[in-house]
Amino acid sequence: MGWILALIALISDLHSNLEALDAVLRDVEAQKPDTIVCLGDIVGYGASPRDVILRTREVCQVVLQGNHDAALLDDRDAAGFNERALRAIEWTRAALDAEREENWPLWDWLGGLVPSMDATPDAGAETVHLVHASPRHPLAEYLMPNFGPENERVAGSFAAARHRLTYYGHTHHPGWFAEGDAFRRAVDNDASLKIEPGRRYMINVGSVGQPRDGDPRSSYALFDGETVRWRRVAYDHQAAGRRILEAGLPASLAERLLVGR
Ligand code: ZN
Repeated sequence: MGWILALIALISDLHSNLEALDAVLRDVEAQKPDTIVCLGDIVGYGASPRDVILRTREVCQVVLQGNHDAALLDDRDAAGFNERALRAIEWTRAALDAEREENWPLWDWLGGLVPSMDATPDAGAETVHLVHASPRHPLAEYLMPNFGPENERVAGSFAAARHRLTYYGHTHHPGWFAEGDAFRRAVDNDASLKIEPGRRYMINVGSVGQPRDGDPRSSYALFDGETVRWRRVAYDHQAAGRRILEAGLPASLAERLLVGR
């Protein structure tokens, strides 16, 4: 403490929503972070997989694989997906036609991602654990916002966390678990959390492409080594929804963007 550490921007759950990603990246750029991290679920649900993959690959220094990215590559990872999620994966496979040579680098890149990683933002900075879903099952375990501290998944995840601070996504609910406490929601733009020395946390950065906490604005987080700050960014969700309908994807995937559910 006492000196300025590197600033990290953490985005997650983009879900092929280019309108949301572009708006978030404009806000991220204005914060001038040293590093941009993506916690996975680049594809699934939305209508712009190709452009979202290209943008993510271009701007993020660290990218994890999410369960939708994994399901695109291997049907076994789609076990448990509901009907509309499955339809979106099928649609995405067709859109990223693997028969076409121009798409091969995208498939190679997605196939090389992993769902868990340690990251040290700067020399001398504290190493943090980055996962898509949870420290114990990094690809697909849900740490839901209604879970209390005694919940087996929460306790098991704290036990499996490799470092004091874990960053995750997957539920699309921004907020945090401090060890021993229930989940606290990060409500509204610029909600913040001051990290207490010696305490363990699991911090959810929220979702860029499909928020589910009732606020349709995109969510992402900034971390300067001492404080986590969540940003909420409005974007043209009407346009994103229109393109989902034009693509022939389930209408409910467009409708949920309007209400953030
Ligand atoms: Zn997701």
